[in-house]
Amino acid sequence: MPDTVAETRTTCPYCGVGCGLKVARDETAGSVTVQGDADHPANFGRACSKGSALGETLGLDGRLLYPTVDGVRVDWDTALDRVASVFSDTIAQYGPDSVAFYVSGQLLTEDYYVANKLMKGFIGSGNIDTNSRLCMASAVAGHKRAFGTDTVPGIYEDLELADLVVLVGSNLAWCHPVLFQRLAAAKAERPELTVVVVDPRRTMTARSADLHLALNPGSDVALFNGLLLHLQDTGRIDAEFVTDHTNGLEAALAAARKLSLADVAEITGLSQPELRRFYDLFARTERVVTGFSQGVNQSSAGSDKVNAILNCHLLTGRIGKEGTGPFSITGQPNAMGGREVGGLANQLACHMELGDAEHRRIVQTFWNSPRIADKPGLKAVDLFRAVKSGQVKAIWIAGTNPADSLPEADEVQAALRACPFVVVSDVMQSTDTARHAHVLLPAAAWGEKDGTVTNSERRISRQRGFMPWPGEVRADWWIFAEVAKRMGWVGDFSYDAPVDAFREYAELSGVENHGARDFDISAFAAITDEAYEALEPVQWPCPAGAAPRGTRRFFADGQFYTPDRRARFIATAFRAPVEQVSDDLPFILNTGRVRDQWHTMTRTALSPRLMGHIAEPFIELHPDDAAGCGIAPAALVEVKNARGSIVVRALVTSDQKRGNVFVPLHWTDQIASNARVDVLVNPATDPVSGQPELKYSAVAVQPFAAA
Ligand code: SF4
Repeated sequence: MPDTVAETRTTCPYCGVGCGLKVARDETAGSVTVQGDADHPANFGRACSKGSALGETLGLDGRLLYPTVDGVRVDWDTALDRVASVFSDTIAQYGPDSVAFYVSGQLLTEDYYVANKLMKGFIGSGNIDTNSRLCMASAVAGHKRAFGTDTVPGIYEDLELADLVVLVGSNLAWCHPVLFQRLAAAKAERPELTVVVVDPRRTMTARSADLHLALNPGSDVALFNGLLLHLQDTGRIDAEFVTDHTNGLEAALAAARKLSLADVAEITGLSQPELRRFYDLFARTERVVTGFSQGVNQSSAGSDKVNAILNCHLLTGRIGKEGTGPFSITGQPNAMGGREVGGLANQLACHMELGDAEHRRIVQTFWNSPRIADKPGLKAVDLFRAVKSGQVKAIWIAGTNPADSLPEADEVQAALRACPFVVVSDVMQSTDTARHAHVLLPAAAWGEKDGTVTNSERRISRQRGFMPWPGEVRADWWIFAEVAKRMGWVGDFSYDAPVDAFREYAELSGVENHGARDFDISAFAAITDEAYEALEPVQWPCPAGAAPRGTRRFFADGQFYTPDRRARFIATAFRAPVEQVSDDLPFILNTGRVRDQWHTMTRTALSPRLMGHIAEPFIELHPDDAAGCGIAPAALVEVKNARGSIVVRALVTSDQKRGNVFVPLHWTDQIASNARVDVLVNPATDPVSGQPELKYSAVAVQPFAAA
């Protein structure tokens, strides 16, 4: 390697697989090349199209480089003073719940921790939520109901060791490509490894499966309740495990018995032979992993869907052992890390709960904070409704673009227009959210900032900077800490580097053993700066007193984190999605990702290679539906309901079920006019998790007629 080339090991900023990357930066040529890190246990050298194109996305076009107040460039002191004084004045006049933070799974864990400490422990409100609410909140709720804590039991290797992998609501091939590559490689080695995909669409993942169950959208609970009954009635259960380590089976069975197999067939749209084939396969295969993702989580019944899956694994005792277990595949690079330090409005740091008085005491004592939020805050959809109604009068949005990505996106934009004070800290200067900011704060981007992220298998990895910091960008943790100091809490936020925050929450994770602690990384409470810099990827927990090697699997011993250490079956009755089709709105709209784009394209649109995959927004619809609506292939189509309308290109394909359409979530007005699909999305949420129903809205489609 030439002297001018510096190599850095870091972690990909896109999906929750959390691949390790090796970045080579040639200072003379000004080029950056990115490849998979062969030593990283998430990917062993692999990288997908998005990860390997990262070098094309590091330019400064569109970057936010200087703070502004009311559109005028200012210095950092002026901007930070303004944020601190408006937040302080608003809190003094209207109370702590009149302000809010909305943050992001793109933030590093250290950023998340400092923001949460400020809002929950010092401002004294629970009003900090995250775009991870849109990603995996239902999985969190399901885990907590069944296990007592938000604990992912298994590891990626289990997908390779299983004899049956069931992927539910997961287009793994496009949305978690390296994990899909690992699964495909395992299947190539062991053709007997059977893959079942449960998804209304014939996705790239479904095409490669041994069995594709194209169920009706929203019917997953009926499918898995039917499986629970089949397992019970055919005696394919682990009776000893159920007796010794679980509670609640009878209620779960009673809920499942409300539907006969014929009812399940009717609700799911699957034939009884298809159902029996799947149920028999699951029943007779000991090593089963059920991976689930947004098709399960993004639903008004998301938590019940998760628990219906977990119930089947508990009944068979297939959890915590090699090649078994339910497995939540998270969408974002740090959805897991945010959860570890209290990233959701109902959480406290280190997997403690805002609703638990003892947990509040532990955290407040540790922080020595003047107060602590005494109730959960507003979840994402409700938070922006509170902005619109005037209940929340000052909001700080960090590293995310809710004006495009939340359901009912036009209402979110209206809320931001009406809000007296909007702060946006971000890397890009002109997102649809940033346009509404009174104060814009330039944040360091991937390749510049330093800290840790945690992937879907609980593996903490370092993100390391390798680029010079352009303009006046700053780290997110620093920005939150500087505002906290200006609000009067100088000594409590005196961090000099991300490692200071890391040491602090590592210490908190080990303080007082209250008997329900899964997230314990107190082995790192005194980590040196040098050891943090060199930190190798490691799975939590890593409790003090042991070599910090991490724990690969949970629950093999049948000990859960509920008060009686038993797992809980949850009774999950099927209920239909909130919005139903009608004569006026006859199609079910599903939204999701495409292979080469990420979220609202602020980074991926910078790569010509990635933009070459799919050039413009589209709607997938079945040929019969297209013909019925007079829509020709590649024609422009208007998609609409009472919430708004968009115009996209028709992709006519039998991969869609009749009556169902799919539009990708990525395009915004910055990239293509009038293609923001989230303006159409129903804002209904799951009553337990607060996760919105991003995959089921009623719409009409028709040929677009230009005015
Ligand atoms: Fe990045 Fe995910 Fe691709 Fe890995 S699979 S390189 S984490 S986008």
